[in-house]
Amino acid sequence: MNKITELEKGHETFKKVKFKANEDRFKKLVSQGQNPKALFIGCSDSRVMPNMITSTGAGDLFIIRNIGNFVPAFKPDSDFHATAAAIEYAVSTLEVNDIIVCGHSHCGAIGALYKTLVPTEENIHTIKWLELGTTAKRVAKAALPQVDKAELLDYTEKVSVIFQLENLLSYPAVRRRVEEGTLYLHGWHYDLASGEIAYYDDEEMVFRALGG
Ligand SMILES: [Zn+2]
Repeated sequence: MNKITELEKGHETFKKVKFKANEDRFKKLVSQGQNPKALFIGCSDSRVMPNMITSTGAGDLFIIRNIGNFVPAFKPDSDFHATAAAIEYAVSTLEVNDIIVCGHSHCGAIGALYKTLVPTEENIHTIKWLELGTTAKRVAKAALPQVDKAELLDYTEKVSVIFQLENLLSYPAVRRRVEEGTLYLHGWHYDLASGEIAYYDDEEMVFRALGG
């Protein structure tokens, strides 16, 4: 998929095949509105496909994607906070029951934490955004000082997911609903090569295979 013509052809196929096959469902979602059960916060990486890896479709997941699947801590000010606004909307208006923060293997954002990026006017937002992973990097390096790079990156990806879950709790609506027992937070790590998902067991503080 390099040229837009391929996307156009893809859309033609969608209209003829998938839209036709799901037309009733799409129309129902228009007439009745959306009622997704879960908020999925995933990386923008093109290899992470939230609906595909959970076998879900239209109306099932409210999705936030950003570089590194990061969650900035609650910070009400005059800036434009896309991730925060989507979290608020999902939790307070759509009233989702679950929030999944899904990291993944071979994440370029996590990898970039270990590189020296030279700030220019073309990457200023990227460098600032990656600060949201620095705590995970610091913890991972302290916990695993002797491991090889691949293991360190895997660990950092997973630790970062846990920190993003903590940041979610800084949002008043998230904290309130978690304390009420109407909202559950989940940390996942998707492996690109195997298709497996590991989830964070917060009682044992380890990642385990999802679905056995
Ligand atoms: Zn990524």
